Amino acid sequence: MSASKVSPTSRELFDQYLRSNHKRRTAERFAILECILNVQGHFSAEELGEMMKGQGYPVSTATVYSTLELLVECGLVVRQRFSDKGNLYERVLTSAVTHHHLICTVCGKIKEIRDQSMSDLIECRNFVGFTPSYYSLNIYGICASCSRQRKRNKSQGKK
Ligand SMILES: [Zn+2]
Ligand SMILES: [Zn+2]
Repeated sequence: MSASKVSPTSRELFDQYLRSNHKRRTAERFAILECILNVQGHFSAEELGEMMKGQGYPVSTATVYSTLELLVECGLVVRQRFSDKGNLYERVLTSAVTHHHLICTVCGKIKEIRDQSMSDLIECRNFVGFTPSYYSLNIYGICASCSRQRKRNKSQGKK
């Protein structure tokens, strides 16, 4: 695994964070970060473990969880709780590509949307005594296929 695949900023940020908090800078932790940087979208800790295994770099579940916690603490990864199905993670992107989530409360499907006017509205806000670093907007509702399913069930119930 070559170090050049990791963008220097993320790797440096993590390195700096581990140093200043007197945490061990292990090869596993950096390999996990590298893996996350190549992932698009949301993933669970279990999925991340599988990806590491798939790359020929198996790490223990405990290491995956503890590294994710460290990455959340240093602001490179966000923990999202979209539903009661457990936590998902995603890497923090720059505000230029901030996205919002449409979450189906029936099947749990998550759709990512990008809406510049919505982002502008949030990003130009000033909060007294608070400096935001990132945000994530979750909109809950029912997806198209679930609402079709519901209509079908309703019409069947009527007969
Ligand atoms: Zn997302
Ligand atoms: Zn749905």
